[in-house]
Amino acid sequence: MVKARKFVYHSPFDGLPKETDLKLVEEELPPLRDGEFLTKAVFLSVDPYMRSRAPGVDLGATYIGSQVAKVIESKNPEHPVGEHLVGRFGWRTHTICDSNSDFWLVPDLEGLPLSYSLGVLGMPGNTAYFGFLEICQPKPGQTVVVTGAGGAVGSIVGQIARIKGCTVIAIAGSEEKGKWLIGDLKFDHFLNYKDVDFETKLEGVTPNGVDCYFDNVGGEIASIVLTRMNEFGRISVCGAVSGYNNDFSIKASPIQYLMIRKQLKMEGFNVYRWQERWFEGISQNMKWIQEGKLQYRETLTEGFHNMVKAFIAMLEGRNVGKAVVKA
Ligand code: NDP
Repeated sequence: MVKARKFVYHSPFDGLPKETDLKLVEEELPPLRDGEFLTKAVFLSVDPYMRSRAPGVDLGATYIGSQVAKVIESKNPEHPVGEHLVGRFGWRTHTICDSNSDFWLVPDLEGLPLSYSLGVLGMPGNTAYFGFLEICQPKPGQTVVVTGAGGAVGSIVGQIARIKGCTVIAIAGSEEKGKWLIGDLKFDHFLNYKDVDFETKLEGVTPNGVDCYFDNVGGEIASIVLTRMNEFGRISVCGAVSGYNNDFSIKASPIQYLMIRKQLKMEGFNVYRWQERWFEGISQNMKWIQEGKLQYRETLTEGFHNMVKAFIAMLEGRNVGKAVVKA
C-alpha cells in the first residue's frame, strides 16, 4: 500500500498566504488497475497563478500545481517504469494516472536538468517564448521593457529580446536581481520598482520611448510604463502579480487615453493558447541554452514539506529565476 502525502486547501488565503492555510495530509492509494500507472513527484513548481486562482479551489481539495514526476509502477505498457512526465496533479507526492490524466511527456533534455521542465523548458519558458514573440512582435533596435524581470518568465523574455537585437529595460524588486540581470544576463538597464525615483529613472533610460512592454505585474507600475510607449507600441499582458495578494483591489492610473493617443495594442493571453506548438517553444529554448544564448537560474527549496514556505517566498519576491521544490 502506497501512502501519498498531499497539501489540501485548509483556510482561504487572506492577503499573503500563511503556512497554516494549507495542510499536509496522508492518503492511502489503492492498488493499480489495468491501464493505470503510479507516479512519484521529483520536482514541484510554485507559481504565482496558484495565488490568483485560489478563489476557484474548494476547501479540502488538493492544492493546484504541476510537478515533474517519475513512473515508479505501471500496469500500462505505454507508460513504463522510469518515464518522466510533467503532470498537473497538484501538490502531492504520489499520483495514480491513466492515459487520460493531465500530463505531457518530458522530451529528451539532452543532459539538461529535469527540473527545467517546470521552467525554461516548460510552461514559463513557453509563456516567454510565445507570449513575447507572438504578441510583442519585436524588431531589431527596438526598446523592450519587461517587469518581473528577475523571475521565471521575465528573465527569459529579456534574453529572447536581446537575442532579437532589442534594447532591454528590466524591472524587478531587488538589487540582487538587478546584479544578475545586468552582470550575467547583460540587460541594458535595471530599475527597481520600489525606488522612489522609479518613474524619473524610467524616463531617463528610455530616451527613444518603448516599443514593446511585457507586463508581468500590472497595477501602477504598468500604468507608468505605458506613459513611455511609442506610437503603435505592443503590450503583452502576461500577469498581474502586484494584485494577486489583495484580490486586485489596487488602484492604478487610467490608461485609455494613452492607448488612443499612441495607438497602442494590448493583448492578454494564456500560454495554453499555444498548446499545439508546445514542443516548438521547448526545443527553441533548449537550442538557445545549448548555444549559450539563454541562461537559466533556479531557486531550489529542498523537501516536499517545505512547499508552502517556497510558495510564500516566491510571492514575496525571494526567488531569483524559477522557484522549484525538490520533493
Ligand atoms: P516569478 O518567478 O516572476 O515570481 C513572482 C515574482 O513576482 C516575485 O519574485 C516578485 O519579484 C514579483 N512580485 C511579487 N509581488 C509583486 C508586486 N506587488 N509588484 C511587482 N512584482 C511583484 O513568477 P513567474 O515568472 O512564474 O510569473 C510571472 C508572471 O507571469 C506572473 O504574473 C504570472 O501570473 C504570469 N504568468 C502568466 C502566464 C500566462 O499564461 N498568461 C503563464 C505563467 C505565468 P520582485 O522581486 O521583482 O518583486
